[in-house]
Amino acid sequence: MLRSWRRRRILARHSIPDVLWDSTVAATPAVAWLDAGARRRLRDLALLFLHDKSLEPAGDIVLDDAMRVRIALLACQPILELGLDSYAAFASVIVYPEAFLVRDREHVDEDGVVHRGDEVLTGEAWEQGPVILSWPDVQASGRGEGYNVVAHEFAHKLDMLDGAANGLPPLHEGMDVAAWEADFDSAYDDLATRLGRGEQPWIDPYAVQDPAEFFAVMAELFFDVPASLEAEYPQVYRQLAAFFRQDPTGRAGGPRTSPASP
Ligand SMILES: [Zn+2]
Repeated sequence: MLRSWRRRRILARHSIPDVLWDSTVAATPAVAWLDAGARRRLRDLALLFLHDKSLEPAGDIVLDDAMRVRIALLACQPILELGLDSYAAFASVIVYPEAFLVRDREHVDEDGVVHRGDEVLTGEAWEQGPVILSWPDVQASGRGEGYNVVAHEFAHKLDMLDGAANGLPPLHEGMDVAAWEADFDSAYDDLATRLGRGEQPWIDPYAVQDPAEFFAVMAELFFDVPASLEAEYPQVYRQLAAFFRQDPTGRAGGPRTSPASP
């Protein structure tokens, strides 16, 4: 295949320098659980990502190699076992120097009411378009603090593989759609109920905006604070472990599938 030939050639001729890679990994506690082999594959994947996607600065930001590698590492963590083809539907990542203002945005809430207004966003994933990220939020991502705008936006991209983002990405063979929906619905309802009672759970209330956001926020927690997610919503954790084919806490059980080629 031309594509795999091209990828092998990139991997043979280029590399992310050791110092740069090691410092990026050290600054990303979210990947600390990966063993040496998984880290090597993540590094290869990040290199291919940087050759495949155009990282475009917006405004006056200048993207240096350290920034590019950080974005690539965080973007590739969700597809470590899925492969780069999962991101075939888009070509670019746009990086803003700060949270960006989107004017006159339309938003339809759960009751079907349309709201219009300006929104300040830290990231966004366009259907059939680029991923947009704010650099300070990329910096804050992957630090094991429960925040990961990169995992969040790229999870939307995986959700969009079978159409509009709806919280149900295309599941692998052997996974059960009804079980997925039941597990996500029950966690969603639990969080919405607690928020409705005036509680202040540790999970960002933005999760219950709609099922697509819930999936993206759960993916964010899965990679950033997996043990906390597993303690809160074990079924959701297990579904995500099966979907991403990764098990950060090592407790999801079930058959591990062989790693995908990059
Ligand atoms: Zn989102």
